[in-house]
Amino acid sequence: MLCANSAGRCEFDGCNKYIFYDNITAKKLNASNVAHIVAASPDGPRGDKTRSYLLSDKLENLMLLCPQHHKMIDDYVEDYPEELLLEMKKKHEDSIREMCDLIFVPKSERVIFFSPIKNVSLTHIDNQLTAQALLPQKRPASTCGINISIESAFDYNTSEYWSDIDNQLKRDFDRKIGNELDSDPNTIFSVFPLAPIPLIIKLGYLFMDKTNVDIYQKKRVPDTWKWIETRKTNSFSVNRIVVRAGSNIALIISLTAEINPKRVTDIVDADIIYIISAERIGVDAISSIDDLSDFWHVYQTVCDEIKNKECAVETSVFPAIPVSAAFEIGRRYMPGIYPKLHIYDDYNGFCKTLTIGGDC
Ligand SMILES: [Zn+2]
Ligand SMILES: [Zn+2]
Repeated sequence: MLCANSAGRCEFDGCNKYIFYDNITAKKLNASNVAHIVAASPDGPRGDKTRSYLLSDKLENLMLLCPQHHKMIDDYVEDYPEELLLEMKKKHEDSIREMCDLIFVPKSERVIFFSPIKNVSLTHIDNQLTAQALLPQKRPASTCGINISIESAFDYNTSEYWSDIDNQLKRDFDRKIGNELDSDPNTIFSVFPLAPIPLIIKLGYLFMDKTNVDIYQKKRVPDTWKWIETRKTNSFSVNRIVVRAGSNIALIISLTAEINPKRVTDIVDADIIYIISAERIGVDAISSIDDLSDFWHVYQTVCDEIKNKECAVETSVFPAIPVSAAFEIGRRYMPGIYPKLHIYDDYNGFCKTLTIGGDC
């Protein structure tokens, strides 16, 4: 039983040596020491007149140790009192149990995607928080995940800026994600982005629908990347505004903030404006995977209509959307079926950023 709880490894804090094998000769051997925390005899290490007898054969009083560490705790009794040893035993056995629980949980490679938003460099992405977000359905495939961090020296809303970070993203994606997929096409990815919305749409587009990938978004309160909400919390509707006869299409997506159509017609020659709005507009417009999938269905219907009813091959998109919606728009884009998307971003007024689909 003690061997099972300790997984056959020395329970001395920091040792964790597997005791039934010799590394140098590669021979199996039993070098296990079953050590008493409170000695079996009152005169022994940490012994006690009454408790020694009571505890002598109790599992909770025994530790599996390598010979070296057994000698250590018995020779230096002052340094290794009962409480400290109990703590080591608990820590070791708890960790073993946690690890074993995870053996059959699928591994996912975290993609930590960072790029300053509107020239503001945010705090780094916490490695532990992203790892926790995967559990218990998935576990991290590697300790650090894949980091894609992109910055540009150009001014934020210039075309040089967007083409610079667009090129960097494509290059990093091929180098880091492409390599991973080449070595294992079944790799599961989990994406944690803190980046401008157009760039997140592009990242989704590079992943495409065929890759096994899911998206996480940062919540401030509580401080987590987990999808805490499990139910549907919002609904989405579509409006079609005819400005004049013609086939220039603009698409407004108002999930995190309302966008006045006037601001759109000031910038582009839109004849028809589609507006997708959330019933509840705000940073939490998409709070669950169900919300995300509801949004996706509405968005998909609009794309179909723009392509098939309006016969438009391209459309200007004005998004006020959360990270998860941005990623899905890119990931589920169907080249040749959906209109080409020109993405605009609001930074002291709308500016044209990246293009999705078409020949890019
Ligand atoms: Zn002993
Ligand atoms: Zn040891």
